[in-house]
Amino acid sequence: MNAELALPLERRIGKRSAAVIEKHLGISTVGGLLNYFPRRYLSRGELTPISELPPDEDVTLIARVLSSSTRSMRARRGTLTDVVVTDDAGKGVPGTLKISFFNGFRAKAELQPGRRAMFSGKVTRYGGALSLTNPDFLLLDEDPDASGKDPEELAAMPIPVYPATAKLTSWSIQKVISTLLDTVDLDQLADPLPAGIASREKFLTAADAYRLIHAPQTPSDWQRARDRFRFQEALVLQSALARRRAQLAAEEATARRPVTDGLLAAFDRQLPFTLTAGQAAVGKTLAEELALDSPMNRLLQGEVGSGKTIVALRAMLQVVDAGGQAALLAPTEVLAAQHYDSIRRTLGPLSRDGLLGGLGADSVQVTLLTGSMPTAARKQAMLDAASGTAGIVIGTHALLSENVSFYDLGLIVVDEQHRFGVEQRDALRAKASKPPHLLVMTATPIPRTVAMTVFGDLETSVLDELPAGRAPITTHVVGLAEHPAWATRIWTRAREEIDAGHQVYVVCPKIGTDDDGDFSPGEAEPTDADLAENGSRELASVTGVVELLQDEPALAGVPLAPLHGRQDPVLKSDTMAAFTANRTKLLVSTTVIEVGVDVHNATLMVILDADRFGISQLHQLRGRVGRGGLPGTCLLVTSLEPEHPSRRRLDAVAATTDGFALSQEDLKLRREGDILGASQSGGRSTLKLLRVLEHEDVIARARTDAQSIIGADPDLARHPELAAAIDDYLNPEKEAFLERG
Ligand code: ADP
Ligand code: MG
Repeated sequence: MNAELALPLERRIGKRSAAVIEKHLGISTVGGLLNYFPRRYLSRGELTPISELPPDEDVTLIARVLSSSTRSMRARRGTLTDVVVTDDAGKGVPGTLKISFFNGFRAKAELQPGRRAMFSGKVTRYGGALSLTNPDFLLLDEDPDASGKDPEELAAMPIPVYPATAKLTSWSIQKVISTLLDTVDLDQLADPLPAGIASREKFLTAADAYRLIHAPQTPSDWQRARDRFRFQEALVLQSALARRRAQLAAEEATARRPVTDGLLAAFDRQLPFTLTAGQAAVGKTLAEELALDSPMNRLLQGEVGSGKTIVALRAMLQVVDAGGQAALLAPTEVLAAQHYDSIRRTLGPLSRDGLLGGLGADSVQVTLLTGSMPTAARKQAMLDAASGTAGIVIGTHALLSENVSFYDLGLIVVDEQHRFGVEQRDALRAKASKPPHLLVMTATPIPRTVAMTVFGDLETSVLDELPAGRAPITTHVVGLAEHPAWATRIWTRAREEIDAGHQVYVVCPKIGTDDDGDFSPGEAEPTDADLAENGSRELASVTGVVELLQDEPALAGVPLAPLHGRQDPVLKSDTMAAFTANRTKLLVSTTVIEVGVDVHNATLMVILDADRFGISQLHQLRGRVGRGGLPGTCLLVTSLEPEHPSRRRLDAVAATTDGFALSQEDLKLRREGDILGASQSGGRSTLKLLRVLEHEDVIARARTDAQSIIGADPDLARHPELAAAIDDYLNPEKEAFLERG
């Protein structure tokens, strides 16, 4: 890192200010604070009177607080602060407006009656009344620019809004940063952007960009500064990924060349269907890469049901044919057990049980290894992996544990990547003496730029067609608010399906009647329902619904069973086995069945309180039906009013089965951090200015640049500033570390 940037803050802004910044923002260096960018900019010139607020638009207004009240929410943890404000007099008709803050600690502390503030946010409509929810705001009583400027100049000047805390206002941050800009010699700062790129893009210098991002005189000032830093961020990220790709490619792996008369050939002969063109093409790519003595590092994306497992299995067989072992890593025990069963079934006579012994080229031992297996069985499985008796080992992250070793691990397949991070990939890779080949499969299609960003260290293949004869899935939104009678019609519908010999999934957002829900991280955004305090309604739970259905006349005599993550693993796998064997007709579960589970006879999926799930989760869930050539139906049941914003998600899922379209839609509705947070492990900071969906062209340009920089200078010996910026990006704790050292 550049010496000036690494300098302790107190050297430039004094002990007292430095202590305040450290305490409230956790920032202790010059670089840390210089890179603490405003989240947005407000302009006094764009004010909207309350009486003329346009619904569904972003507005900025100045108003005085009339009252403020805070209460805790009933259905979820957290508080709701309602602030009522009124326009300043003299600007047409004064209006009043309610502003709601979810967990608004700073709002509660700062927005006291009588205070004047500028608010900026999106206008929403609730039962006729307009309101703002969690807007940005600045207390104007403290505006450092407000004095001594002529009104016109003042109106045009953008006001930076910093991410503030309840104790440290945006204005205070602005004041400290302005001191910093005066005391730091910005022109001496090293620039991670290579000069050629900076001039091609006509970027501001780093010094000017720092000045203008923090103290812009016009909107174009901060826009230009932001463009530069955004590109810089993309370049640093893409260079880090390009370097990792180059390092991985430079490693030496064992080539696993295909043989003509091995297991793979026998498997292909017995395959009951023809591979799709996509499966064949991807299969060819994998076969070629496995035969190289540098490791394959590939991401396979495919729509739900596109047949990724066969592709992976064929790759595994090639490796086994060449004398190596393959490991398949699944995100849940249920899924690992399913893969184990279905892969053994698919292999048929090519799969051999351990007891028969002997390494034969005509069969392969498939072994399951999960954390919850009885000790003796687990020990045996570990022994088989270590001795090489097991050719294919299927498991959960138990495979990552230290005492699991392999005789000669040649290929790792990670199924349903979104639950596995970079570190886990690395932990598995460390299990082979030479780096194994790696195939990562994801069922959630990922937009190109997200793939470039989150999985940028992997090459990508896509399976974009479904096997022929795949029956379509029809999805309906069942709105109980409009049609209360449908609450029982659902079960009559389920009964029809079961009477026709088919099976039914019922998915609930919660396990028990008294827990907090079972959401994946990132799904638990405060919804407008919370804010409207509509959340006191009881959500469907597995145990509650099982009780309900046992007394449901339409389902009398139907064998049904609960399935959820808190059950004993043996019970879970028995339940799944009974369902697979069609003894259980109706399964009431949480999202444990979200990924991968493959029961061909299931034709109906009922998702209760579907509004509680995210778009990609719903898409994954419904992919569990319509698999065996039988048309599938998915019912998205909701109690929300038709106008409720969350209903849009359900409508989107009902409108298309195109996973790529849905994942774009999904990403738009979610916070960026959630997308990256889930996969960006290893302590990487989240992106600051880059938005993976919006800035596709920036990311693509940066990727090309990064590729050519790393291509010519793999160790970045001639780009020390860029190398330092990468280190800093990959290892944000380093700042604190240097400080202490
Ligand atoms: P996913 O990509 O969602 O993991 P799977 O690999 O589970 O999909 O495949 C879904 C189903 O489609 C499986 O039952 C599999 O046997 C079947 N399948 C795979 N490839 C083909 C094909 N080429 N033709 C017909 N059925 C196929
Ligand atoms: Mg799968």
